[in-house]
Parts: sequence; structure tokens; C-alpha cells
Amino acid sequence: MTAVSTEKDAAKPASGEPLVVVENLVKHFPIQKGLLKRTVGQVRAVDGVSFTINKGETVGLVGESGSGKSTVARLILRLMKPTSGRVDFGGQDMATIGTKQLRPLRQDIQMVFQDPFSSINPRMTIANAISEPLVTHKLITSTSGRRARVGELLELVGLSPNDMDKYPHQFSGGQAQRIGIARALATNPQLIVADEAVSSLDVSVQAQVLNLLRRLQRELGVSYLFIGHDLNVVRYISDKVCVMYMGQIVESGPADDLMSNPQHPYTEALVGAIASAEYTADRGHGRVVARGEIPSPSNPPKGCRFHTRCPFAFDRCKVDEPALLQVGTDRLAACHLREKMEVSA
Ligand code: SF4
Repeated sequence: MTAVSTEKDAAKPASGEPLVVVENLVKHFPIQKGLLKRTVGQVRAVDGVSFTINKGETVGLVGESGSGKSTVARLILRLMKPTSGRVDFGGQDMATIGTKQLRPLRQDIQMVFQDPFSSINPRMTIANAISEPLVTHKLITSTSGRRARVGELLELVGLSPNDMDKYPHQFSGGQAQRIGIARALATNPQLIVADEAVSSLDVSVQAQVLNLLRRLQRELGVSYLFIGHDLNVVRYISDKVCVMYMGQIVESGPADDLMSNPQHPYTEALVGAIASAEYTADRGHGRVVARGEIPSPSNPPKGCRFHTRCPFAFDRCKVDEPALLQVGTDRLAACHLREKMEVSA
């Protein structure tokens, strides 16, 4: 991700007014065995996650595969119900709201998927694919009105309205992702959840799509929850980043700040892995490398979940789970190391 610098510093309309407040969100999936489907354990996919997305803001959720970030997205979209916790959207709890009240809220939260081709029916014209949410939510009833709206949306994402009668296979991957974004924008949503939305694209196309998302945010004031595994990509588009490990947020804070001065060893390992130019790495202990594989979420390590891979783990880390505590003014980190260093200083 080196080609994404052109719009980085442009002003954004984040208002500081909360749009989504996620509070202590938990999702455990039962592990069932045998004919009687006896529950023999739980996969703790999301385990006490809290964060806020303000209006006009982008929050990035980053972590390895299996860290629980896509499950958080599905819970916010109410594609599944949480085990416990709240997802407050415009004063209503998405986690418990009834189906009837949920329907109008669905217009306000849309999704952009990783693979644009799999999210668009190959037998539909682009006009029909983009206008599908308008039909579902009965927003524009006339065909001519829908075609006019599709034309507007195609222009908004940098495509030609003349292409609306083409089929998905006639577009490149980057163009197809633009179509996916146009479709997500059709209902004028307040929040777009982008789950690995540029991961399948070439680096130069990634840059174009990220810049498009930033421009649309400036023009429309839409908020994004941007989910990815590449910290550089997530950092580029996000105001605030939450780092997830084994179902929990281990660190969060303003994107540039978190990247240049990580406070949690796992974040340090992610940052070190991409060899960021401004990351000095040598904070007296050299570059941090997470050892081994991510443990099974059905049997997370006791104490700090990262202790089996952390080069700084000490006795307390194996028994005492660190709380997510404030570091400075607007950072949070869950690590005993800071306290240990303060005691020994
Ligand atoms: Fe490493 Fe201990 Fe901090 Fe966990 S609490 S990240 S094991 S130092």
C-alpha cells in the first residue's frame, strides 16, 4: 500500500456525535457433538467488545483471520443475534429490536463485501443489481425513477450511466467493487460496513477504491466500519483503529498515533510486520514478532490471551486477564507490561 497518498490529509466531516455504540458485545457459538447435539464447549468468537462509531467517521477493525472482526460486523448488521451486549444505533438496540422495527433500520446500514462478483447476481444487469435495495425497501417505485437513481449512483462512483445495462462479467474487479459501493449507497445509508472490501484487489486498484470511499465520505457524510487484516490499508482510511485478538479489542486509538506508537505487543507485531517507515521498532527491545499460531477460540489461553505468543509475557500474564485501560488521552490498551514498567521504574 504505497500508492494511496493523494487524499490522505483532506478534511473530513466527522462530527463527534455517536452513530453506533457497541457495548460489551459477546457472541459465543456452541460446539455440539453426537446425534443428540450435546453442547461440549463454546467458540468465543466475540468476547466483550466495546467501541463507538461517530457520524462521518471511519473506524477500522483489524486483526488476523479468526480474531472475531467479521462476527462483530454481522452482529452490527443484525445478521445474527449476540449472546449478550448492545449495539445502539440511533437510540435503538439492534441486538434486541423486533423484525418489524428492524426493517427501516436496514436501509441505514449497508454492506460492501470482499468479493464484488459473489455479491452481485451474474444474471442481473447492473441497473437491476443496484436498484434491488430500492425495490426491497420500496423507496422508488417507478422503473424510470430507479434508472435515474442508478445513473446518479454510477456517476457518483466514477462509472458511466451508459453501462447500466451491462452484466457483471463485463467489468473489472475494481469496477465491480465500485458497483458494489453504488449498490450500498442506493438507500442513502448512514453506515457502511466494508468487510475486507479491497483485499481481493491489486494494490493500485485498492488505492483508487479507498480514495473513492474517502471522497464519498466527504461528500455524503457516511460513516464506515472498515474491516481488514492489512493494518496499512485499515490505517489509511480510518480515523480510529481497534485491534482485535481472539475475540477481544486489545488496543484502540487514533489511526496514525496507534501506528507510530503502538502500546500493545500484538499491535507492535502487526506494525512491525509491515515495516512502516515511521515505526521506529527499536524501543529498546527490537522488532516484536508474535510467536507461533493463534490458539483455538474454543479454548483461549487463561490470563492474557496473547501470552502464548507474546515475547514479553511474564508470570502474571498467564493468570490475570488485563483490562482495556486508558493510555494517555484517547488510547486504550490491554497489557500488564505498562504497569510492570511503572513499578520497576
Ligand atoms: Fe504480553 Fe503480558 Fe502484555 Fe499480554 S499482558 S500482551 S502477555 S506482556
